[in-house]
Amino acid sequence: MIITIDGPAGTGKSTCAIRLAEKINFIYFDTGALYRAICLFAINSKINIDCKDSLKKLVSRFKFQIKEINKVPHYFVNDIDVTNEIRSPQLTLQVSKFASLETVRNALKPIQYDFGKNCNSIFDGRDLGTAIFPEADIKFFLTASSYIRAERRHQELITKFPDKRVTFEQTLSDINQRDYQDSTRTCAPLKKAHDAIEIDTTTKTIEEVVGLMEKYYIEVITHKTKGK
Ligand code: C5P
Repeated sequence: MIITIDGPAGTGKSTCAIRLAEKINFIYFDTGALYRAICLFAINSKINIDCKDSLKKLVSRFKFQIKEINKVPHYFVNDIDVTNEIRSPQLTLQVSKFASLETVRNALKPIQYDFGKNCNSIFDGRDLGTAIFPEADIKFFLTASSYIRAERRHQELITKFPDKRVTFEQTLSDINQRDYQDSTRTCAPLKKAHDAIEIDTTTKTIEEVVGLMEKYYIEVITHKTKGK
């Protein structure tokens, strides 16, 4: 069974996906980490992303792995642990540009399909319910006001990177810019799948959102079992 959770940054996708996965015993894949990882790899490789051949060579050399260390997922690119680096505000600003490239998106598809093969999984990202798993069993689309999303993201950043001095205003502007880039790109833009359940998380706690998701999951399972 596959559950997808899409939506813009700061809507609580990852936090809710992790909690839901724990509750219903699914495995969880944060596809944002995958896009962040390939962006970091491209930057470190100093390639010209406008050159199709260089980009093709780059994606063919990209080896992505997830390993659990002390129950925390760690992300590896060609055997180097990039878990912390991929979350830096500087990198975050650049990911959307790479994520808009068709060559990049096509190269990352098989990694996502392989992960979801033969196991109950929850994926979160931007295009899971529309482009990657249009046949997913359950699809959620999370929204929230940009102000609250920036507040959540700012809190996260000052905790993770206390030396970086990121302001709330900067975070809000970055989030708006990223939303714009993600939802206006031509290849697999961020948008709600027609059959996704929309949850506005602006005034909801994580527990409330996860509770709604779990309720829906139970309804689907019950319906499937009765249909047998
Ligand atoms: O979810 P997260 O904020 O970590 O995603 C970082 C960026 O990766 C997004 O702003 C988006 O540009 C890209 N992304 C994407 N498709 C996904 C997941 C992430 O384009 N499925």
